[in-house]
Amino acid sequence: MTTKTPEVSPEARFAPRATPETQPYWDATAAGRLDLPRCRPCDQVFFYPRSSCPQCGSIDLEWVTCSGKGLLHTYVVSHRPAPGFPVPTVIAVVELEEGPRMMTNLVDADPETLELDMPVEVRFEQRTGAAVPVFAPVPENAGKEVAR
Ligand SMILES: [Zn+2]
Repeated sequence: MTTKTPEVSPEARFAPRATPETQPYWDATAAGRLDLPRCRPCDQVFFYPRSSCPQCGSIDLEWVTCSGKGLLHTYVVSHRPAPGFPVPTVIAVVELEEGPRMMTNLVDADPETLELDMPVEVRFEQRTGAAVPVFAPVPENAGKEVAR
């Protein structure tokens, strides 16, 4: 007998809870932005949000709004995902244009067509209590100039 994980709506899925260090991050995602901390002394943008720079230890940080664009660094296709997630679920690491890599889910993507370093862009999945950043492949011609 096989058991299939029931698919439930994103609203019913687990949502992260904000901490004092991550509250600005979740406030931004709720507003449809991907904001990350940047270290003023060493210019590093990093993920996950924390109270000091992982590179130099400085607490002189500011929040910057990222483009939401990145490349698919690596991924795994889960056929037994956490309860409530679709089958299959793509668990991915995306390298953001600004540098940091973040673990996320790829949505609207056929697992058979994924390629490393393919362009992806952020979307926000509405759940109860948080808007969670996920990524989707950039359509073939998006962002390219149209020849006239
Ligand atoms: Zn730093």
